[in-house]
Amino acid sequence: MSFSCIKLSKICFLLSVIFCAVLLLLIPKFQAIWKPRSYPQPQPPLPFNGSSNSDITLQSGLKANRKMNESPINRLDNLMKDHEEPALASAKEKLQLKDIFIAVKTTRKYHRTRLNLLFQTWISQAKGQTFIFTDWDDQELRLRAGDHVINTNCSAVHTRQALCCKMSVEYDKFLESGRKWFCHVDDDNYVNLHNLLHLLSAFSHSQDIYVGRPSLDHPIEAADHVRNDGSTTAKFWFATGGAGFCISRGLALKMSPWASLGSFISTAERIRLPDDCTIGYIIEGLLEVKLLRSPLFHSHLENLQQLRGEAVLKQVTLSYGGPENRRNVVSVGEVFSIQQDPTRFKSVHCLLYPDTGWCPSLTVN
Ligand code: UDP
Ligand code: MN
Repeated sequence: MSFSCIKLSKICFLLSVIFCAVLLLLIPKFQAIWKPRSYPQPQPPLPFNGSSNSDITLQSGLKANRKMNESPINRLDNLMKDHEEPALASAKEKLQLKDIFIAVKTTRKYHRTRLNLLFQTWISQAKGQTFIFTDWDDQELRLRAGDHVINTNCSAVHTRQALCCKMSVEYDKFLESGRKWFCHVDDDNYVNLHNLLHLLSAFSHSQDIYVGRPSLDHPIEAADHVRNDGSTTAKFWFATGGAGFCISRGLALKMSPWASLGSFISTAERIRLPDDCTIGYIIEGLLEVKLLRSPLFHSHLENLQQLRGEAVLKQVTLSYGGPENRRNVVSVGEVFSIQQDPTRFKSVHCLLYPDTGWCPSLTVN
């Protein structure tokens, strides 16, 4: 009796050990069954190549709220967005025209001529974004543009000092405005606002961006005795002011020690170079940020006749030759004759904004 009792309890003990062992073995299996229930369900595979392992890995990165009825192409786009670097994602910010500060440099003698043409054409489409930097209190201009006209009180002469004086005021006013982009143009530039916006939209204003056209095919060298590395010259590229250029706010803020509140003038004095070169010196020479070359900016230093037809409308800025080279203009169709529109800006404007009151009605054959 006692023997069979001992035997029975042994069997019971063995059975319970086996039961526990089976339970232990089954725990991972239960975990595998329970786990998915406590997490969002995985997305079904992509219809076009759904079964590969790499898809599965990538899909785990998809946002949980992805819509089920998206097309494969959209899914792929979203997938790429999800995997973008944060800096790149923020570069895709929706830039608006109001985020840009366009500074136009002019002088007393060009108010009625050059500036009038700009008001008639592109400035009419960007009144809120454009600021005129001049050297004279002009009541007529004030009535037209209000506080968007800034009398810099710089001298009305074409000297290095006078031009640097204007650039210095442009820079300070831009910082004060709080806008995202600073673009400088001369009063003989046409600005294609749509293309400018498109160009700048590719970047973030908090990145270090300096974009324009270099006027030389080699870097400029400036005597500079204050470099950290002991060298006495600085080599740098600069964007020619006559074609216009743009600077992001992030970079403009970094320029402040050499550019704000009059220090731009002393920086220019130090290297004895004009305003646009001084901008290049601060950005490339001192801050070591490279100029982004864009072929979309144009000055009358180039042969503008080479720009013709549809290509003209794809540029960011245009210009025209001065009295010494009147024929240096872009080639656009006969909206207006060369006599009616010697700079071609009116013709360009009518092609871009055909609904403008003074534009002839353009008939398409
Ligand atoms: N400018 C100026 N003061 C002057 C002469 C010119 O501010 O005494 C401006 C002018 O309005 C233009 C820029 O400087 O925006 C360049 O002038 P311009 O086109 O006559 O000469 P460029 O340097 O292009 O040959
Ligand atoms: Mn010019």
